[in-house]
Parts: sequence; structure tokens; C-alpha cells
Amino acid sequence: MEERLRIKLIVDRNAVKRHIFLPSNIEVWTVVGDECDYLVNEKPLFCTCKDFYYLCLIKKRKRMCYHLKALSLAKRKGKYTTYYFNDEELNLFIKLIFSNLK
Ligand SMILES: [Zn+2]
Repeated sequence: MEERLRIKLIVDRNAVKRHIFLPSNIEVWTVVGDECDYLVNEKPLFCTCKDFYYLCLIKKRKRMCYHLKALSLAKRKGKYTTYYFNDEELNLFIKLIFSNLK
């Protein structure tokens, strides 16, 4: 699938999610992928997918994977869902994302 269309589909199906942990206000963003959820971050750029590690960090062939492009588009359009959690849940949340990575 063409990358631009893929990014648009991710945003259109509300697969970009913002998780706010309170009371610290820590913001964690995820993108729902085909097989698992990915942690994404804009500053600094970071994604837990293989493309980001291999193509962006190691090979330096591109700056962003399509999850990061979807994050950027979703923020521009204001098209994402926000979920609220307690700070005590942050550790488990991150743990679950990493243990479900494909
Ligand atoms: Zn990615």
C-alpha cells in the first residue's frame, strides 16, 4: 500500500492515541499497528517498530517511519483519542506495550 494512503488510514480509523498519566501529566502516544501497538514520540523522534530502528537509526534512509508520520498528521488534524490514567499505571502500561511488540 502506498505510504501516504497507509498514514491517512491510520489517522482516519483513530489509531493514534494519547495517554495522559495523572497527576504528573506525562503524555504517552501510541499508534495501533496491524499486529501490535507502538510507542511513538516526536521530540526526540522515537518509535518502537523495526522500521524506525533499521531504516531510520541504523541505515539512515529516512527520518520517520509511517507511525511517526501518522502521529504528526493526527496532531495536525487533532484526530486522536485521549485516555486518562493514574501515574501508578504508567510502569505497567509501558511494560505491556513492550511485551506485546511483534
Ligand atoms: Zn514506527
